[in-house]
Amino acid sequence: MKEAKKAIETLLKEVYSDPLSPLAEKQAELAKRITMKFNMDQPYELKLLFCKKCKSYTPPVFGKTIRVRNGKLVFTCKVCGSKYRFVFK
Ligand SMILES: [Zn+2]
Repeated sequence: MKEAKKAIETLLKEVYSDPLSPLAEKQAELAKRITMKFNMDQPYELKLLFCKKCKSYTPPVFGKTIRVRNGKLVFTCKVCGSKYRFVFK
């Protein structure tokens, strides 16, 4: 469990260092699979990488646009065009 968390952190660091590389998408998918396998909560940084609706790999700025509306962040997916808000904990 601890190892899984560490693995995810390492993967996410690599994804965010170069979000557009083909490897980044695989690493993001892998991190997601680890959270599902161990029934863990997905960290915020991981959720940000995927569209809430179509589940496509959409890193912020490159794959989705971010707007601030009424003090809330609104994301627009560039793949399916859906808009959604992220809830901050
Ligand atoms: Zn989408």
